[in-house]
Amino acid sequence: MIKPDATQKGYSGAILDQIIKAGFSVKAMKWTRLTKEQAGLFYEVHKERPFYGELVDFMSSGPIVAAILEKENAVADFRKLIGATNPAQAEDGTIRKLYAASVGENAVHGSDSDENAAIEGDFFFSKLERF
Ligand code: GDP
Repeated sequence: MIKPDATQKGYSGAILDQIIKAGFSVKAMKWTRLTKEQAGLFYEVHKERPFYGELVDFMSSGPIVAAILEKENAVADFRKLIGATNPAQAEDGTIRKLYAASVGENAVHGSDSDENAAIEGDFFFSKLERF
């Protein structure tokens, strides 16, 4: 997912270009905006964390790009491409180092396992929207 900070700053095209050049293929994609309720559900695993309210407000604050990406070793390679959660700790050249402003507003989301990737893909896309 490209998060609202990055879509609103006009970084979506550059981020997608970097993702595709890194060898990911797009199986599904949409430009949409989450309601607070949807953002709350998407990040339900963080419900008990102190930043949950802030995260839900942020993730529903503007449009996002949701995508299903495919590649060998996709989860680990995508997390390497996006960099550490906190952009201050992200390696040079990573998407978060280039485009993120803070640990909360950090430009992109990547699934943390194949299992969660499947759950998160189902959250956004029907079977008819995948190619
Ligand atoms: P990720 O897998 O790298 O996205 O990181 P996590 O799963 O730990 O956290 C999920 C998301 O919650 C992050 O990408 C941030 O947008 C947000 N987040 C994490 N830590 C903080 C924090 O300390 N403050 C705020 N406001 N948001 C945070």
